[in-house]
Amino acid sequence: MPYRTHVGLSRRAIFARDGWRCAYCRGPAQTIDHVFPRSRGGMHAWENVVAACAKCNHTKGDKTPAELGWRLHGGVPAAPKGQAWRVLGHRLPDPRWADWLDIPMPEAEAAA
Ligand SMILES: [Zn+2]
Repeated sequence: MPYRTHVGLSRRAIFARDGWRCAYCRGPAQTIDHVFPRSRGGMHAWENVVAACAKCNHTKGDKTPAELGWRLHGGVPAAPKGQAWRVLGHRLPDPRWADWLDIPMPEAEAAA
């Protein structure tokens, strides 16, 4: 692994966090997608991975959801919280995500 990842970041854990649903179409997920593609500098971290179906993952390729006009149904990807999970801390979402997230973000409001 070329990158250090959070403890507990695993394929199974990502699926569990996202309810085994594709973050883009809410269909059954079979794959893990890097929201901001790794080929373009995206991190392999909780905040940049989502469960995705094979079709969406294939269609998305190395594009960002913003470039495709897609939205993340689950909101900002984050490390899972709760007693069942190891507490990994919380970071503010990447401002670049404001383009395709439905939630308000201070950076986006300031830029608008
Ligand atoms: Zn999908």
